[in-house]
Amino acid sequence: MMTRMLRFILAALSAVPGLAVQAVAAAPAAPLPARGAWHERTEAIMGTRVYVELWSADPARGNAAIDAVMAEMHRIDELMSHYKPESQLSQINARANREPVQVDRELFDLIKLSTHYSQITEGAFDITYASVGYLYDYRRHVHPTEAQIREALPAVNWRNMLLDEQHHTVRFEHPGMRIDLGGIGKGYAVDRGVEILEARGIRHAVVSAGGDSRILGDRLGRPWLVAIRHPDDPHKVVTRIPLSDIAMSTSGDYERYFDEKGVRYHHIIDPRTGHSASKVRSATILAPTATQTDGMSKTAFVLGPEKTLEIINRMPEYDAVFVCPDGRVLYSNGLRPPAPRPAGAPPATPTAVSPRVPP
Ligand code: ADP
Ligand code: MG
Repeated sequence: MMTRMLRFILAALSAVPGLAVQAVAAAPAAPLPARGAWHERTEAIMGTRVYVELWSADPARGNAAIDAVMAEMHRIDELMSHYKPESQLSQINARANREPVQVDRELFDLIKLSTHYSQITEGAFDITYASVGYLYDYRRHVHPTEAQIREALPAVNWRNMLLDEQHHTVRFEHPGMRIDLGGIGKGYAVDRGVEILEARGIRHAVVSAGGDSRILGDRLGRPWLVAIRHPDDPHKVVTRIPLSDIAMSTSGDYERYFDEKGVRYHHIIDPRTGHSASKVRSATILAPTATQTDGMSKTAFVLGPEKTLEIINRMPEYDAVFVCPDGRVLYSNGLRPPAPRPAGAPPATPTAVSPRVPP
């Protein structure tokens, strides 16, 4: 997916310890067109930090475009939040174990799309994870006992969700089943935000919600430099990637968590065990849309980095960077720094590895 030149830049940047940047940082400023300015705003929506930055020739239009994106994020939150008892998603959780629950086409379509990610991730992404996930409370340091997990786990299985395309209804085949779109809703909301900006004629922007971001255009002739942070230190950067016109999601075990007796309990749950999934410390996925990157960013935690790279490398639209528990950083084929290879030598191994990240 990336040009050869970008790969070179990536290789060079990974070797240089740089300034700490958590999310999206601007490349050094290119000369700006005579009129216009960057406008930015941060709001707390969907239980996370929503950030919009865009280039507009007219401040009033720029601000109105940001207003429209924020309003859209609130609308999506009202529809899909599992915290709000009146949301349609909460209606599903309250009643779908007894009867088919009809919801808006938009919510139905996102639930259906989530089963596509369940399929391609071999069940690692599963919105029914919530049937056990609700037993965790990271803020209050609460986790389920083994007995509670054993009781709740049979309800986790996306295949037991009956989706009626014609009537856009959802029905649960298991009485204990619950769903939660926390693993895909923010990516979807970011894509909707970008669509809104495009419809208003915005050509350069970044929209992000939590770990999910999408870049529209570039930073006026230069790529944005996106930093991937160190899992244990928000001020250390593992690597920087120059990006434009692309989406990116990073999932990490340091986002919502608590540690107890040497075990980290964090918000990405292995649907097969009901425990926090810990095969990587962080996973960054690149693809054209944030719905795609969000749908894939939990996979490596559950399936492990090697298996997930096999899946990613089979899908030409996707790239990935994984930080492993032992500090190794793995890249998908599209991001591999080009390795010098003597004539006649066999092709390089399918997985690119950079030096370990120091603790
Ligand atoms: P963010 O909330 O910043 O977008 P992630 O994209 O990493 O973070 O998503 C984490 C969220 O995904 C969790 O808080 C939870 O709502 C949901 N989730 C956890 N485990 C799974 C899973 N196995 N499949 C689908 N969603 C999950
Ligand atoms: Mg996300």
